[in-house]
Amino acid sequence: MIGTLALMLMAQASPQQWPQHSMDRPRPPVVDPGPERPPAAAPKDAIILFDGSNLSQWRAEDGSAAKWTVRDDYVEVKPGTGMLVSARGFGDVQLHIEWRTPTPAQGEGQERGNSGVFLMGIYELQVLDSYQNDTYPDGQAGAIYGENPPLVNATRPPGQWQTYDIVFRRPHFKADGSLERPARMTVFLNGVLIQDNFELVGPTANQARPPYKMHADKLPLKLQDHGNPLRYRNIWIRELPEGS
Ligand code: MG
Repeated sequence: MIGTLALMLMAQASPQQWPQHSMDRPRPPVVDPGPERPPAAAPKDAIILFDGSNLSQWRAEDGSAAKWTVRDDYVEVKPGTGMLVSARGFGDVQLHIEWRTPTPAQGEGQERGNSGVFLMGIYELQVLDSYQNDTYPDGQAGAIYGENPPLVNATRPPGQWQTYDIVFRRPHFKADGSLERPARMTVFLNGVLIQDNFELVGPTANQARPPYKMHADKLPLKLQDHGNPLRYRNIWIRELPEGS
């Protein structure tokens, strides 16, 4: 009887009941997403944030010129120069971004191919080399960092291009600054659903669960410098009408 009750309670337990960064948490199943693909063409109404030629749509964190390295059709993190920040601010968006972790892989866990896509500069979708590289599930590639693991691990090996297609709905705040509606994120990694309209519990953070704090309706997108020479290419974004 007690066993049955315990099983029922476990079945009802929300993922949020795992301690943050728990290594005991089950690993998402591995799914082979199929072979690497050429860059996805941007729809006509998209704002092109990076087409391989220059960083005119980006800045350094202090507002000075972007410092990452543009080469061929990609931009590479220049470790130690800080985040790449979009010149424009965005709220509700559809974002397409392609990334490639370094090869040969170096480091373990969070130190292997770490970066991140920070919606509104606050809410991180983790970028990591999670191909045969174990770490805490809420910190692997496709995790809403420190909040929710991906549904599956659909990563490709290091050195291959991968895609994120993200639908982000910004949080809404009441006039008194309290939360009216949390942020939500849906994400496809290499065409595979990994986040399904997940309601964020607050700003993402390491070893912390900070509460929502009122902010502007539109804020710049940021890409993380975590010290690893990740590459990004073909970044485009569509602003979405609010309300759904
Ligand atoms: Mg990161």
